[in-house]
Amino acid sequence: MRITVVGGGIIGLSCALRLAERGAQVTVRAAAPPQDTTSMVAGGLVYPRHCEPVDRAAGWTAASVAEFRRLATEPGTGVRSVPGRLLRREQRSVPGWADAVGGMTRRTDVGEPWVDALEFSPPLIDTAAYLPWLAARAEAGGVCTEYGPVAGLAADDAALVVNAAGLGARELVPDESVYPARGQVVHVADPGLAEWVVDEDDFSYVLPHGEYVVCGGTEEPGLGGTEPDPRVTEDILRRCAALVPEIAEAPVLRAKVGLRPARPEVRLDRVGDVIHCYGHGGAGVTLSWGCAEEVAELALS
Ligand SMILES: Cc1cc2nc3c(=O)[nH]c(=O)nc-3n(C[C@H](O)[C@H](O)[C@H](O)COP(=O)(O)OP(=O)(O)OC[C@H]3O[C@@H](n4cnc5c(N)ncnc54)[C@H](O)[C@@H]3O)c2cc1C
Repeated sequence: MRITVVGGGIIGLSCALRLAERGAQVTVRAAAPPQDTTSMVAGGLVYPRHCEPVDRAAGWTAASVAEFRRLATEPGTGVRSVPGRLLRREQRSVPGWADAVGGMTRRTDVGEPWVDALEFSPPLIDTAAYLPWLAARAEAGGVCTEYGPVAGLAADDAALVVNAAGLGARELVPDESVYPARGQVVHVADPGLAEWVVDEDDFSYVLPHGEYVVCGGTEEPGLGGTEPDPRVTEDILRRCAALVPEIAEAPVLRAKVGLRPARPEVRLDRVGDVIHCYGHGGAGVTLSWGCAEEVAELALS
């Protein structure tokens, strides 16, 4: 079966690889190469923050965790399981997705301003290494890629189209419920951090990848533009140094901005010969393999 996948970010590439592994003849059509996608900006933590629909997101996360744990044993993928802490400033229950990542423990000896910390060792994905690896794995699996924007989702000479265009779905579908949620990060040289840290309430995070650390973050719903703001860079560095003092002296490497493809809930469904898979917001890495497996099931079962 011939299938066109529109979009070559983490969602499109994961879907393309799964479909090709199950025998489909897959062409990815992408406006931009992987290095110019939002996926490349992601901090890479498996963390299904504010994901709807909640139950499906937990299932997608569990499937992704299983695949990423397998990839962590392969050299060159950029995937590792790394221990870390989710710090919280208000009393809340353990999240519903805790079982999906597994091994979560709650501590209360954390000190102000936090009331507790959830400790676990999820997959942490260095997207700068992972995206090129994923694109190469897809190509080796027989996936062809054509660069250039597409104007619509007509199947043309393919039997099926997978719409994995992220923010592009706003015009392609069209779907006005998709909107950009701008996020800036700053990369600093990794001083040898062994753990990641996220402050869930002020959305500061420190994610070490060996050569560099992703420091974040911001989330500005409705804002476009991918030029980093120097004042935001300063603010991120200040917040992250308060969280992890070791990074205060680390050389700053670069600042990056990505536009999360936000939507009230992830869309994954089939309408005729189009399978929609977009709107992953701030959790596209987290949900990628689970969604790709469901897309393959909808396409080929
Ligand atoms: C600062 C930041 C930090 C993040 N951190 C994390 C994290 O730690 N964990 C996590 O799980 N997620 C994280 N995310 C979220 C994650 O990056 C996204 O959810 C994910 O990248 C979405 O992937 P995607 O493939 O749907 O979209 P994209 O990566 O945007 O890819 C969309 C693709 O569609 C193509 N396209 C669009 N329109 C067209 C068209 N008309 N024709 C052809 N091609 C088209 C584009 O060229 C691109 O190839 C973060 C995001 C940001 C911005």
